[in-house]
Amino acid sequence: MGSGEAAYVEGNPDTKGSRRSTLPSKGQVGILVSRSNSRRTRGCGRFRAAALVLLCSTTSAWAFRLIGSSSGWVRWDAAPRFIEGEERSLSGGLRFSIETGTYAGLRDQFMWVPAPGPTVEDFEAAILRAFEHWTVVDPESGLPAAFYFVADLTTPAVDVLNDSPIPNSYFGLNAGAEIDLFADTPHAGEGFAASVRFFIDPREDDLTLTSGAMNYPGFAISGADIRINPAYVWSLRGFEVLLTHEIGHALGLADLEALTSSGSVSSFLDDDYDPSSSETARETLGNSFAREIDPVDPDRSELQSFASRLDVDPGLSSPGVALLMESEGYLDLLGVEPLLQNDEFAGRQFLYPVEVPEPDVDVMIVVGIVILLLWNGALRSTGGIDHSVSTTRE
Ligand SMILES: [Zn+2]
Repeated sequence: MGSGEAAYVEGNPDTKGSRRSTLPSKGQVGILVSRSNSRRTRGCGRFRAAALVLLCSTTSAWAFRLIGSSSGWVRWDAAPRFIEGEERSLSGGLRFSIETGTYAGLRDQFMWVPAPGPTVEDFEAAILRAFEHWTVVDPESGLPAAFYFVADLTTPAVDVLNDSPIPNSYFGLNAGAEIDLFADTPHAGEGFAASVRFFIDPREDDLTLTSGAMNYPGFAISGADIRINPAYVWSLRGFEVLLTHEIGHALGLADLEALTSSGSVSSFLDDDYDPSSSETARETLGNSFAREIDPVDPDRSELQSFASRLDVDPGLSSPGVALLMESEGYLDLLGVEPLLQNDEFAGRQFLYPVEVPEPDVDVMIVVGIVILLLWNGALRSTGGIDHSVSTTRE
């Protein structure tokens, strides 16, 4: 569904570059926007109508892009981190707040279809689902999320003005909760459906990864402000899907159509992308590859890197392509669960890696215990002698 994106961070798009983090140049380092795009006809049609159109076919998933530069991607720190006295990390959960502090107050700022709009309970549930979509277990890889979200509505949401005169105002603390949600004109203007602005901590550029790897090059997010356009008419599901997409930005994922030349995003990363034809593109990019991410050193994962424009066919515009971080097509997922596709699960694993569990270890332990019990029983019944049995637990 119509939306476009822009991200502004300086840097080299190559993911296999220097291991030293250097701060992006001062200035705008974190805006991601979703704009309406009435010219685009693929998918469900006009964005403003997106709220009305609920189902488009989808079969496929794609790769991912990251925000930042090769010297350090942007992600939340796994270790407790204090910025101007405020805790800003995954520790204790990522806390989010909403404008007005109440779901009713936020809901009432939007126009809804069907009118008069969702109940407060349904609106709250949709917002909570938007966060929870990011924390489900990847059904393909079995990998869980390494983070969780916490509603923190008693902390007032603080929006940072678009025209802040403060130099380097994208560095330092982003006030409010860690993620704040607003009904407001997107940072990039009225023509956009939504936008995200995030701040990063300039003081220390090495992070702890969720896999436990320490001193990892990167930039720690200090907070993110999400604005959703109240001038649009929303269906509850359309709102939920859009918010889920924006939360993806707040986690450090860029739009798949973002141009590497912007200097703010990575190349398009995948394990086996073959753009020879629409069919090969769809097949090679629809597969799960989260388990191919190195959880200790994600940057060293064996991934292909594409800098070319991909919102073409073969590419993101190929029929059957629909994925959450595709700014031009995420609303194709209105009728799809889970909302995260294979590429988003891979992106999640890249930014917030978890050690790949040994397959069926629980089953192996159970089997081992059962065998042990049977062995004991058999030996007792036959007057067996001392023995030891080790369960299989690789
Ligand atoms: Zn986007």
